[in-house]
Amino acid sequence: MKVYSFPRGGLSFIDPTVPPGNSSETAFLPVLSVIPLIQESGGRVSPLVSVGDSVREGMLIGRGGPGAANVHATVPGRVVRKVEWEDSEGRPSEALVIRMEGSFERLGRKEKSFSRAGLDYSELQRTLTDCGVVEMEGSGKPVAETLEALNNIKSPQTLVVRCVFDDPWLAADYVLCKERLQAVVEGSFIIAKAGGRIKHIVFAVSQREKELGKAMLAEASQYNIPSSMVLTGSRYPQGNRRELELVLRKYEKSENIDLGFLLVFGPATLAAVYDAVKYHRPVLDRYVAVGGSAVRKPRIMRVRIGKRIRDLFEECGGFVDVPGRIVAGSPLSGKAVLNPDEPVTKTSYAVFAILKAQAVDSPKRNCISCGECRNVCPVGLDPEELYKQIKISLSRPPGAEECHGCSCCDVVCPSCLPLSEVIMGKTLGGPRSA
Ligand code: SF4
Ligand code: SF4
Repeated sequence: MKVYSFPRGGLSFIDPTVPPGNSSETAFLPVLSVIPLIQESGGRVSPLVSVGDSVREGMLIGRGGPGAANVHATVPGRVVRKVEWEDSEGRPSEALVIRMEGSFERLGRKEKSFSRAGLDYSELQRTLTDCGVVEMEGSGKPVAETLEALNNIKSPQTLVVRCVFDDPWLAADYVLCKERLQAVVEGSFIIAKAGGRIKHIVFAVSQREKELGKAMLAEASQYNIPSSMVLTGSRYPQGNRRELELVLRKYEKSENIDLGFLLVFGPATLAAVYDAVKYHRPVLDRYVAVGGSAVRKPRIMRVRIGKRIRDLFEECGGFVDVPGRIVAGSPLSGKAVLNPDEPVTKTSYAVFAILKAQAVDSPKRNCISCGECRNVCPVGLDPEELYKQIKISLSRPPGAEECHGCSCCDVVCPSCLPLSEVIMGKTLGGPRSA
């Protein structure tokens, strides 16, 4: 079977501190949960409860508005306080802290299932809104908003199920795919119906996970929307929207088909869509890869949203030595966690801690014009030249806007220059972020 890869640049990325992708473990229920009221997408939620109120498991405690999804209590308990902090990018955060008490209404009980037969797209979208389903692999944007925007796109539409594991820190998504394959596949067909005009589903699967792709395709054969599998390369950043679209357009051409507009969702989102429609279950938990050189027992955990990162590390055996840096996400695209009391959110696919000795920023040196950054840039940019122009003129030259911040250039630069940050316009040369 043909493998489709983006044409230039990129990296093969391995990290021995990633937890093994064999299976997941259910994390302990958090005594204290921190439920954010400002979401990754920037949207703000209106709280429906106050300090002192009791909440039930799965109860709606915050109503989303534009760009923000509904939020629910992930454990039963009492709201004990409201907290505020600034994240590592200086963005304000605000959350309700819930102390667990009382009995669970869903956990350990057989959940009532609901038929989706006869539901039209607007009813499905309403269910996704009610249950607070967001794009869990990236932006955190409410899925119902994304689907609503499809109404303005008249061309054919294809749902792309992104199972491209080009970054080892996507291990939790991989385990989710294996353990909840049926939910992921049915979730994709629910999206196809909720989107209204989606006529085709493509399972984009990295080459080394071919067997997983075949199993998905076999599961998909019972539904009446055409589906196919496209094998992609495994080189980072194959899963990025741009590189994924490049290879799918190649596939489209070689198969002489019209995929039209591509809507891309990952497995965590699709499993949440399935839970919402099948069980009216809000997003209460997610799979998270916990690891890094400072963590004693890296593992894949199924974690309640709101559990503090500090508690998650403790459950993984604590630290072998003092961590120098904690990051949510991947080393290539993650965000520094300044306070371990920050919670696991709907978009936290990984958290890792690295030893102090390894976390020291390498001193930046002058560019030696080795050309390595050019070799790995998947867009074909000249990061060296762009960086130098920005440092001289303090403005972004033409071409810089094409940079999608994959960080490949940063990884290979022997002078440790913060190329992507500067080219993306996030800084004019501050310390290297995680
Ligand atoms: S971060 Fe930007 S400049 Fe650097 S390799 Fe990626 S796309 Fe190219
Ligand atoms: S990789 Fe770094 S040192 Fe080499 S050319 Fe690019 S910016 Fe200069």
